[in-house]
Amino acid sequence: KRDDLIHPFISGNKWRKLKYNLEEAYKLNKKHLVSFGGAYSNHILALACAGAKFGFTTTGFIRGDHVSNEMLTMCKIFGMHLTFVDREIYKDKIKLYNQFFQLNDDSYFIDEGGAGKLAEMGCRGIIKELNKHYNYIFCAAGTGTTAAGIINELSNQNLQTKVNIVSVLKGYNLLSADINQLLETSYNYTVLHDYHFGGYAKTKPELIELIKYFASHTGILTDPVYTGKTLFAILDQVKTGEIEAGSNILMIHTGGVFGILGMLEKFK
Ligand SMILES: *Cc1c(COP(=O)(O)O)cnc(C)c1O
Repeated sequence: KRDDLIHPFISGNKWRKLKYNLEEAYKLNKKHLVSFGGAYSNHILALACAGAKFGFTTTGFIRGDHVSNEMLTMCKIFGMHLTFVDREIYKDKIKLYNQFFQLNDDSYFIDEGGAGKLAEMGCRGIIKELNKHYNYIFCAAGTGTTAAGIINELSNQNLQTKVNIVSVLKGYNLLSADINQLLETSYNYTVLHDYHFGGYAKTKPELIELIKYFASHTGILTDPVYTGKTLFAILDQVKTGEIEAGSNILMIHTGGVFGILGMLEKFK
């Protein structure tokens, strides 16, 4: 499912995660959206563009030292204010928000990656838009919010689709607990913990090779942080026979292709 085609900058699941947050901010008459992310955050870029498109001021708190890169420059072009914060201070986002914006009635807090209930509800749209049944759905997960939206909607529709969630973090065993917190009924899904390629934003040559192969044979770009790992997981599970022959498999292309900008060296 080509959620990467939703919008060039408000891409994929980040559009879905922002949708109800922006509606809520609008209803509350807020003018200034404030959120958090790393220096190559797809969420921060999506927020910068969505803020510009829908008439909000935006501030992004960026984790770590002051850096300059293509992604952050695009955020600035969309008018976002960037504030770099020390990694320790960054950990407590509520405190950080309050320190700068508590007295500002106009501002609206959006969690890192857009995570939360409103975001989960937006992600249900991925399933609502389908007009065909699939035996398997594969989707990448960071916070697991997108996964929770997919699962809640499958469950609402009484579908028995097998859901495989590809964790992009190394050994993050709390992912299913995070997902379950956002679920409305229990659902039997699988978290795949073996396709992180060394950890968040880490890669291996076989992943880079697959991204190149797939792009050059289909015209579809995947990124090394999320969707490339999901694609790898699908092909690997097919190869090892985890997935029966003849199955219909749906991969959610959650977007975020600009993540590749931070890793172009690896593709040379
Ligand atoms: C942010 C992101 C994810 C992770 O989404 P969660 O809801 O945090 O699990 C997956 N894929 C892409 C391309 C992303 O940018």
